[in-house]
Amino acid sequence: MGEGYGFAMPNSRIRGTEARVRPLLAALVAGASALALGGCGGSGAGAAPGDDRPVVLTTFTVLADMTRNVAGEHLRVESITKAGAEIHGYEPTPSDVRRAAEADLVLDNGLGLEAWFEQFVEEVEVPHAVVSEGVEDLPITEDAYAGLANPHAWMSPLNAEIYVANIAEALSELDPAHAEDYARNAEAYTAELRQVRDELVAELETLPENQRALVTCEGAFSYLARDAGLQEQYLWAVNAEQQATPQQVADVIEFVERNDVPAVFCESTVSDEPMRQVAESTGARFGGTLYVDSLSEEGGPVPTYLDLLRHDAETIVEGLKGSA
Ligand SMILES: [Zn+2]
Repeated sequence: MGEGYGFAMPNSRIRGTEARVRPLLAALVAGASALALGGCGGSGAGAAPGDDRPVVLTTFTVLADMTRNVAGEHLRVESITKAGAEIHGYEPTPSDVRRAAEADLVLDNGLGLEAWFEQFVEEVEVPHAVVSEGVEDLPITEDAYAGLANPHAWMSPLNAEIYVANIAEALSELDPAHAEDYARNAEAYTAELRQVRDELVAELETLPENQRALVTCEGAFSYLARDAGLQEQYLWAVNAEQQATPQQVADVIEFVERNDVPAVFCESTVSDEPMRQVAESTGARFGGTLYVDSLSEEGGPVPTYLDLLRHDAETIVEGLKGSA
């Protein structure tokens, strides 16, 4: 059990359950690794008739896509939250809990992302793995969340390699008969990840030194900013409240003016209104929408995680270079 188990979130309406949940979590996870998981029934909700593959339920679309890349055809991979959903303050429905109870394996991000996940853990006894385990976390430095781990570790393709290794391990435990396939798929996907990361870093490196500032709504880019040598500034630390205070807006305006930042951005799952206000007050461009917490629907701009990384890198570079 790593440090990654930061389920305590300020402002969480279920904060009071934390002390009670932790031992249960520990017991569940210990049980999961002790169990021989062969021969799972795989009668997941929504499975097509005759589809008796084991069901892996993930908490959000980014994890589902990563997991599908490792699982190939052997497993049904689903996401609790839908494309476009706000995942930090998500409220699980009874049908979500039922899906979790019927799954053969649940994968979550950890690092405090799924505070709402406590409810699942309380109500179901299904093996689960935390895919960020082993990632070196960066702390949130602002707001009520200061000191907690920044949950957006998947925004670093380097961290994503750790996610993929953890996913491959969890799938192999669930379905040892196909362990070789999972290892091979993970290796191929990791090679793609490395290629996208190289492209992304190379693209961001074309920005002049003084334009390497990434101004966003949520503080979701700390890991990517670290990888790519960008300075990061944002309105709020975590997309739970989604309403910028006048002070937060004033601070970002001050940063943009002081650093002569040519463009600012906002994420797809929140209102970009406060950031457009920053753009208006400073004369910076609104550089566009970035994807972090959710993929788009099939046919949208970022149906996969690799698309998400490429889209964000392109949007950032185009926005910051622009006509400046
Ligand atoms: Zn987020």
